[in-house]
Parts: sequence; C-alpha cells; structure tokens
Amino acid sequence: MAVQAQATEHINPYKVALQQYDRAVAYLDLPAGIKAFLRYPKRELSVNFPVRMDNGDIQIFSGYRVHHNTVLGPSKGGIRYAPNVDLDEVRALAMWMTWKCALVNLPYGGAKGGVICDPYKLSQNELERLTRRYAAEISIIISPHSDIPAPDMGTNAQTMAWIMDTYSMTVGYSVPAVVTGKPLNIGGSEGRQEATGRGVIICMDEALRRRGQDDPSKIRLVIQGFGNVGSWAAKHAYDLGYKVIAISDITGGYYNEKGLNIDDVMAHTAKNRHGLLEGYTEADPISNEELLALECDVLAPCATENQITEHNAHNIKASMIVEGANGPTTPEADDILNEKGVLIIPDILANAGGVTVSYFEWVQGLQSFFWDVEEVNRQLRRVLIKAFDEVVNTAEQYHVDMRTAAQITAIKRVGDATRTRGIYP
Ligand code: GLU
Repeated sequence: MAVQAQATEHINPYKVALQQYDRAVAYLDLPAGIKAFLRYPKRELSVNFPVRMDNGDIQIFSGYRVHHNTVLGPSKGGIRYAPNVDLDEVRALAMWMTWKCALVNLPYGGAKGGVICDPYKLSQNELERLTRRYAAEISIIISPHSDIPAPDMGTNAQTMAWIMDTYSMTVGYSVPAVVTGKPLNIGGSEGRQEATGRGVIICMDEALRRRGQDDPSKIRLVIQGFGNVGSWAAKHAYDLGYKVIAISDITGGYYNEKGLNIDDVMAHTAKNRHGLLEGYTEADPISNEELLALECDVLAPCATENQITEHNAHNIKASMIVEGANGPTTPEADDILNEKGVLIIPDILANAGGVTVSYFEWVQGLQSFFWDVEEVNRQLRRVLIKAFDEVVNTAEQYHVDMRTAAQITAIKRVGDATRTRGIYP
C-alpha cells in the first residue's frame, strides 16, 4: 500500500497543471483552437456507489475516472484511494499523464481515477468490495483499447487484480491487459513494482553524471515519502552507493547523517501492515519541514502534490530536485528555485518509469509473451535516457527550465498529432 498524503496546503492541483501548461504552450506555434482543446479533459465520469461494510452497514462512496486526452492512443493512468481526492485533483493528474506518456513516447493518452476513502481505515474485505464495485462503475469507460488503469497512492497490485477479475467476470473471459501493475502470477511484469523509484534514480544519476558528479558515495540524498515510489527510489539509490540521509512518511521524518541502511529500513517497513516507518530507531526524528530544508545534494519529493511552495522553497538547500511525486512543486516555488539555480527534474520525466513499465506490461499481456527483468530494466533505461536527452535539448533550444522543456516537448507531440488527425467531423 502506497503512503498517503502528508500535510498539504490547499492549493488546487488543476490550477497548477493549467499554469504549467499555459507557460509551456506559449512557446509553441499551434493553432489557438488546439491550444484551447488541450486544456480540457476529454471526458469525466463521477460515480457514487454503495459498499457493504464488515458490520453490515451500507456506506456510499464517491469516485472519478477522467480521460484527459486520447489523441496518441488509449488513455493511461493510475487510481488513487485517499480521503482528499477530488475532481480537480483527478483532472490535474490525468492531464499530467497525457504529458508524461507523450514525453516518453508511449502510444497513450492520459487518464486518472480516484475514490474518496481512507484505505488505512478499511479492512481488506471492505477494500475488495469497494474496489470491485468501483471497477464495475467505471467498466463502461475502461478496456485494454480505451483506458488502462494502474496503481497510484493508496492502491497496489492486489487492487489491480480485483479490477482485472471484476472486468473479466463481466465480459466472460480473462482480460489481463485491462490494467497494469498486476501481481506477477496473473500477468504482471517483472520490474513493474520498482519501476517508478528506479526511474527516479536513473534520471538523478544521469543529471549528476552530466554535471560531473559521478561518485555516488559523495551525494547526500533526502527522500520525502516512503510509499511505492520513495521506498524503491531509496533502495535503488542505496544499491548504487548513494548516501540516503533522510526519509519520511505520514509517521514522520527519519534522519541519519551517516546514511541510512535502506535494506534494514525495508525489512522494518515489511513488518508493518501498511508498510509504515513508525518505530524505526536507527535514525533521529525530524519534521517534514526540517526534512525539506536539510543540508543535502539532492531532494526527491516522492509523496504528493504541493509540498514545495512559495512558503518553503527559500529554505531548500539541495542543488537538485527529482520529482518522484506528481505535482510536488507549485509554479511559484519553481520560480524561486529556478532563480536560486536549483535544477528540477520534473515529475513527468522523473516518475515516468512507472507508466513506461506499465506499457511494457500491457504489450506483454496483449502478446502473451513475457520478458525477463533484465530486458525490462534495459528498455526502461533506454526510454528514460532518450526522453532526458530530448528535454535537455529542448531546454537549450528554448532557453527554459527542465519542467517547461518537458512540457513543451510533450505538448508539441500531442498538438502535432491532433493537427495530423484533424478535427472530427
Ligand atoms: N500512477 C502512476 C503515475 O502517476 C502510474 C500510471 C500507470 O502506470 O499507468 O505515473
């Protein structure tokens, strides 16, 4: 189960996504109508549905599935379970998926789903009933060729197995390719679970290498969030010899200036039902604000949106930020950090490893032909390094920061494809 939201300010993520879009699209020579079209989600489904709780009561839950764009292919994106999910958040996440998929050249559009619930407070049986009913509700707009969900915060491989099973029961045969991020024994891909965290570190490593910083033992890394993204980023960095000096989750921050032993940390979290860090003693406790402001080389926000804002951006000491989370930095904070010369490797590049291996899983599922983990990791690296290179080139060409460059690259692809396809009818 991925780690849930840390304390966030009330900033509307959809407004942030649109601000980023407006900044980037201004550099592109696209017809005004196409620029306007790409600001909107293509379709949005809101569902309210009953779930029988363990005590026999019926509780009503609300959820969403938003397709932002399908010009490059079926829409793709995760499903989030969290108490603070709302339609604007799902819209933002769906839009970021469109740019992310386009940036790493996957034949996908962007989507996202969410259910307002607290997965930590539901039993496994309640989670299964909620998931199956939500899957049935959104089954009218998902399929291997129209929209393919995956895990996000608060959901995991088991959630995907229930969705796949529910969908398969309705159509009458097994359809593994309707979701990605499935368990291995029902058609999941080798390397998918670690892929987002691995991709974060591939991007960080590449950026450091280009700066001539090629000795991992000299690099102090701080990671906010220890869910599926943060924990695997920490593990991969640790295996490469980087010094992970601080980590955090909803139970607090954990700091050790000598570097944490991430194998020990993971053995500790594996004992907790929700994979939490609570009770880890080989570190000093620190607050979230202290963690973000630590003296370090790289900061990897891997928790949730709006963590780095105009209020705390000034305090950041890292010279590089690698965004494992979606939307962790607001545009105002971007301005402050760019001014300070902090290099930001943006979310749609840094965390694209997850959807990239989702794509590999989907391809393997459609062909019923499966790859080994070496092949998956080799292809993942190839895709991310190519995208990294393209972002660097775009940044040089337009004299912009890496976020704007990544968005320009992605928006240009979707915009050009829209022009080529033409407007129906
Ligand atoms: N939820 C992940 C993301 O935000 C993965 C999406 C997917 O694999 O489709 O990128």
